Formats: sequence, structure tokens, C-alpha cells
Amino acid sequence: MSHWSVIGSGVAGLCVATLLAEQDESVEVILSDETPASHWAGGMLAPFCEGESAPPTVVELGMDAAEWWAQRVEGVVRQGTLVVAPPRDAAELTRFARMTRAHQWADPASLEPALAGRFARGLFFPGEAHLVDPREALRQLRASLTARGVVFHHGKPGGRIIDCRGIHAADRQPDLRAVRGEMAILHSPDLHFSRPIRLLHPRFPCYLVPRAGGRFMLGATMVESDDSSPISARALMELLGAAWAIHPALAEARIVETGTGRRPAWPLNVPEVRYRDGVFSVNGMYRHGFLLAPAMAQQLIQQISEESNHAN
Ligand SMILES: Cc1cc2nc3c(=O)[nH]c(=O)nc-3n(C[C@H](O)[C@H](O)[C@H](O)COP(=O)(O)OP(=O)(O)OC[C@H]3O[C@@H](n4cnc5c(N)ncnc54)[C@H](O)[C@@H]3O)c2cc1C
Repeated sequence: MSHWSVIGSGVAGLCVATLLAEQDESVEVILSDETPASHWAGGMLAPFCEGESAPPTVVELGMDAAEWWAQRVEGVVRQGTLVVAPPRDAAELTRFARMTRAHQWADPASLEPALAGRFARGLFFPGEAHLVDPREALRQLRASLTARGVVFHHGKPGGRIIDCRGIHAADRQPDLRAVRGEMAILHSPDLHFSRPIRLLHPRFPCYLVPRAGGRFMLGATMVESDDSSPISARALMELLGAAWAIHPALAEARIVETGTGRRPAWPLNVPEVRYRDGVFSVNGMYRHGFLLAPAMAQQLIQQISEESNHAN
């Protein structure tokens, strides 16, 4: 049996460590002080909506994510996703429906009464889910790992390395690039949504993910850039404008947090498990870390067991 050193405690590292520990492998997790991209995520588990722009393999790999999370953490909400578009962009909804599956046309107000009178029709994806608090979900994974005896530390790795450093792994993997994502947390205690609402727009698509206590995660920009500086004024204006188009009450929301994360992406925007010079890596989660890290961790476990079968 090997001792494994998982480098990085973002969603990829924690899912990998979880599956290794569940196989009774010996694991440690090496920490850094830098905030992971995972900290800024919406926590949407929305494989079918992502199919609009992602290849079919992303949809397939993400189908079991909600169940994976529900078996390990609290706060998986299975209320689906609602997609809407302003009346002038109604054609966008038809296009989105053509590009995706597992949806049905719906009256948005029948699902979300707060949207009464705002949108004539919407697309409902009943099989999708979201994490009500993705940061808490990561804390729970970490607590379960600690309870199983996994040690988290800032020191040198003592075992075989599994590189889960997100964008920081670009030093060893030059085809890894960053896609900047800016987001905000709004507080609007009088507004209630039960599920993520995605607003289609030719230039400024956005989504709102309901959190507890009247909070909403508003996201997210997609900028081909390695810049991790704070949200730009332009991005904030565009996101807020799009939020206001979902519901005018959000004009009175309080902006309680803004943030920027760098999504690690391979050229085809599909994650991979790689093996080179004795080191495994799990990376390229792009905009799907919560959706795809469970499946990629499973692929890693498979590769490790094939490797040990060859060795025996
Ligand atoms: C605004 C935004 C919204 C998003 N929304 C969603 C969503 O709704 N659903 C979804 O599935 N995905 C979403 N994502 C994508 C998701 O956040 C990323 O795919 C995911 O964070 C990538 O995870 P990771 O673990 O590979 O990298 P990271 O989360 O960046 O974690 C890597 C960790 O490794 C650490 N590290 C680096 N070097 C070292 C070292 N030498 N030693 C120890 N540690 C090290 C880093 O500091 C970091 O903590 C979103 C992303 C953004 C930015």
C-alpha cells in the first residue's frame, strides 16, 4: 500500500483525498495559504445546462455528482435549474433548448412565485441540483477526512504525489491556462428563490444561486486571463445589470462580498487525470470543479488500481 500526498485542498484535492481515504489508502493533504478558486464557486451541479457549451463527456461525467455529494455532505438541494431570458432575447431560450437535453418548458412563476409577471416562459431542468453552501461542503469533506485520520499540513510531501494545485500546476503543465471568473454575493432578504436561475443574454449571461439567509451568489464572468485582481467595475456593473433583469428587487440588495477565481482549464476545457514521471495530476476542472471532481477522482482511483495490478 502506498502513502499518498495530495497537493492542494481545493475541490479536486478534497474529492481525491476523500475517495482514497474511503479505499483505506494512507493519505495526507498538503495545504497552501492561498484561497482556492473553489472558494468562489456557485456550487451548481448542472450537467445538462452546461451541455449548452460543453462537450457530451462533461454532461456524462457530471450526471452522478449530486448523488456523490449528497452521500457525503449536508446541503445538496435537488430542485433543478430554471433558465429564463428577457422578452427581446426569447430566441436565446429556443437555442438553449436545442443545445441541451433533460428539460421541459415551464411557466417560471409556477416554479418561482417571485418571478410572477416577469418572464413568459422558461426552461426547467428538473434533474439538476446545487450546494446551498459550497464552502461549507468543502469544510465537511475536510472534517470527514480528519476524522478518518488524514493529516492536513503545510510541510513537505512524504508520499507519492497527486498534484491537485489548480492553476498553480501550470509550472509543470504548460498547456494549462486560467479563465478568470468574477462573482458577487448579494443580500436580499425579501426575495426567495428555491433553485439557481440562469438568465440568458447574448453578451452578459448570468446566474443567481440561492444561499441561506436571503443571500444569493451572482456569477460569473468568463475572461481568458491569469489576472486574479479584484472584480472590475465593468464586470460588477454587467453582473448587477443582469441580476436586475432577473428581478428588480435586487437593485436594493446589499453587495456583501465580491471575488475573483482563476479556473484551471486544458485546451478543450475538459478535465483530465494525467501521469508523468511518477506523478499523478487531476486538473483542468474549468467551470466544473464541483460537478466533475467526483468523477475525476474516481478515474484516478481506477488508474491507481490498474497500475498496482500491472505491478503485481
Ligand atoms: C466565480 C466562479 C464560479 C464557479 N462556479 C462553479 C459552479 O457553480 N459549479 C462548478 O462545478 N464549478 C464552478 N466553478 C469552477 C470551480 O470553482 C473550479 O473548477 C475549481 O475550483 C477547480 O478546483 P481545483 O481544486 O482544481 O483548483 P483550486 O480550487 O484552485 O484549488 C487548488 C488549491 O491548490 C493550492 N496549491 C497550489 N500550489 C500549492 C502547493 N505548492 N502546495 C499546496 N497547495 C497548493 C491552491 O492554493 C489552491 O488552494 C466556478 C469557478 C469560479 C471562479
